[in-house]
Amino acid sequence: MDDVILVVNCGSSSLKLGLFNRDLESLATGLAERLGQDDARAEIDSNGKTLDLPAKADHQQALEVLVQGLRDQDLLGEQPLAIGHRVVHGGEAFTAPALLDDDVIATIDRCASLAPLHNPVNLTGIRATRKLFPEVPQVAVFDTAFHQTLPAHAYLYGLPRRFYEDWGVRRYGFHGTSHYYMLRRSAELLEREPGQTSIISAHLGNGCSITAIRDGRSVDTSMGLTPLEGLVMGTRSGDIDPGLVAFLDRKGIDAGELDRILNRESGLLGLSGSTNDMRKLVALADDGDRAAGQALAVFCFRLARYIGAMMASLDRLDALVFTGGIGENSARVRQDTLAHLGLLGFRLEPDANHHHGHKSGHRISHDDSRFPILVIATNEEAVIARAALEQGSDHG
Ligand code: AMP
Repeated sequence: MDDVILVVNCGSSSLKLGLFNRDLESLATGLAERLGQDDARAEIDSNGKTLDLPAKADHQQALEVLVQGLRDQDLLGEQPLAIGHRVVHGGEAFTAPALLDDDVIATIDRCASLAPLHNPVNLTGIRATRKLFPEVPQVAVFDTAFHQTLPAHAYLYGLPRRFYEDWGVRRYGFHGTSHYYMLRRSAELLEREPGQTSIISAHLGNGCSITAIRDGRSVDTSMGLTPLEGLVMGTRSGDIDPGLVAFLDRKGIDAGELDRILNRESGLLGLSGSTNDMRKLVALADDGDRAAGQALAVFCFRLARYIGAMMASLDRLDALVFTGGIGENSARVRQDTLAHLGLLGFRLEPDANHHHGHKSGHRISHDDSRFPILVIATNEEAVIARAALEQGSDHG
């Protein structure tokens, strides 16, 4: 066997591969997009040279083409040492990564009612990879698993108890792999043990969530039963008044239509009426576009409220940490958000914030800030690769 680990991340019409060495350094990436469509395409290392992919290629075909592409570039020999899969929903069944066997696959399948858009495609990737590499140990890493330590007062909704007991309606939380990486990395930077590190981790990408981590354990998080709850996101609304469901029903918008609007036409896109790209939004706001300015303001205010809310779960705060495309890159969002939180003692160092922490060892807080504020680039694939290596090599 070769000493490489393959990470597979399957979306409804895409498949991403990551190839890592034993030191968890990235060796290559592969991406197939628009699967099932006439213009399906695949490439390695975003080098612009597309691989030969048949029109309407499915996940299985895309996987085979990408793996062959990696082999042609001598990046992958016969087979990898272990394979890690991103799986969105592990329900209450998975509190940690799991070595894939028929029972684990059946359990992931059962969790599909909680994530009907995600778990079935994740399983498609798992099945395709198992077919291609039947002898390689494969590990599933769940977006929800890190949040299984939430206490009941944080995961129960104020709903009739039977909803939870009969159907599992509760807060699960997502982006767990990223929040876990933030914990590990900030512990390293703060020179603390991860189990004795307490942070608020804000993952701000096209999807956004924030998590309170107390002594290494997730104790509150903004996403809920689904990834729709909490912060305002690129196209998702985040929190709304639940009374909206009945209100819009009376206007002729049924639950299915509303679900689509809340997931795809809301958030920054819905508020601005023009874009969910934070770079464009800030430029428009600076040009005087009122709707874009309000979208930015709503995004930052909601985030500030949630940072405050996360404090209720902590007895100490070692750092507030920003990550994700927006969290890592938008000095403006960090500045406008923290401007609401002077009362809590958060204070940015403008120069460090402007340079995204690159020149200050990730730290963007002023010396007078009551709490350190850090910017850290997330690396979910490396967490998945590590889990695959650790669990997979035990069983390989
Ligand atoms: P992600 O889902 O983590 O890839 O993040 C996507 C979001 O990050 C989009 O809203 C992008 O506009 C935003 N983003 C990426 N780069 C930048 C940047 N340099 N400045 C501001 N926002 C950015």
